Amino acid sequence: DGIESSRGLTFVRQSHPRPVDANERTRLLENPGFGRVFTDHMVTIRYNEADGWHDARVEPRAPFQMDASSAVLHYAQEIFEGMKAYRLADGGTALFRPEANARRFRSSARRMAMAELPEELFLDSIRELVRADIDWIPTIPGGSLYLRPFMIASEVFLGVKPSSEYLYAVIASSVGAYFKGGAPAVTLWVSEEYTRAAPGGTGAAKCGGNYATSLVAQAEAIRQGCDQVLFLDAAERRWIEELGGMNIFFVFDDGSLATPPLTGTILPGITRDSIITMARDMGLTVREEPYAIDQCRADAESGRLREAFACGTAAVVAPIGQMKMRSGDFMIGSGGPGQTTQRMLAALTNIQRGNAPDPHGWLDRL
Ligand code: PMP
Repeated sequence: DGIESSRGLTFVRQSHPRPVDANERTRLLENPGFGRVFTDHMVTIRYNEADGWHDARVEPRAPFQMDASSAVLHYAQEIFEGMKAYRLADGGTALFRPEANARRFRSSARRMAMAELPEELFLDSIRELVRADIDWIPTIPGGSLYLRPFMIASEVFLGVKPSSEYLYAVIASSVGAYFKGGAPAVTLWVSEEYTRAAPGGTGAAKCGGNYATSLVAQAEAIRQGCDQVLFLDAAERRWIEELGGMNIFFVFDDGSLATPPLTGTILPGITRDSIITMARDMGLTVREEPYAIDQCRADAESGRLREAFACGTAAVVAPIGQMKMRSGDFMIGSGGPGQTTQRMLAALTNIQRGNAPDPHGWLDRL
């Protein structure tokens, strides 16, 4: 156990007195699934108006004690991030573009009227936890350590106003490949009734409330035999926005790509941004432009639209084979993973695993 000063704030480190037994850990890491296997430690940092950010700790993962009047439990003032630590081909460990998550976390905090965690402190907190639980990174193909930084309004007060106190924490979960044995094509349910975000709303922030409102649409998708929801814009129910937890790309017969623009109602995905950059590096044309669902159907039927894929940290790239909506179903391309989709998946995972050059310096080695 020890203490180390970190750019003004000191992390107190307390090792778990009874960490998970090494044999048990090895067994868990053979087939961890997603979001069910948790590591031994967590990070916590507190904020109040008098002291600012203080009391930074790496401590044994344990239940929080919180007052039943804590603001987050009533008004959902909460934000989070999702990112991964990868084992590299050379045996090292790296995060992928963590400064982009730090920036997005701050911008989510601003939108939710929460205290902004300094980006350096966010990055230090992630590195602290990965170092403490480095043995929890699975070595199975496609495995990684999923990191979940989040922040909750912890003031004990029932008035509707921005909290004056916050609890920031990071937990980690050992995860396997999202899709075992290669990415199968998913079927999307086009939600024509429920929307996820409106102009002026919180669509571009990663706040828990956005996910709470998406669940009824996701349940509808499952009832319709689909894997995921595709949300349309709130005003016209016409323009394609994104999935419940992934951005979307389209690939056309001239080889170009398109993705909806960041107009404030969709989450600015870091995978989305990386794919735009990689595709342009490959000499492909990428347009950030609105795409109407009826045009998408017409293009799929005419063959102009060849492929579609979803992308995000968890699954990286997921081919989209089919869309289902009230007015009927339509297939995209052959209905299976397309060539450009597979090329993007391979290019991104090769950088993330240290198997390819990293021209933009996206890997952050520990
Ligand atoms: N959209 C939504 C709504 C998401 O929750 C996510 C996952 N964070 C994404 C897109 C993809 O973002 P990223 O590539 O940064 O994981």
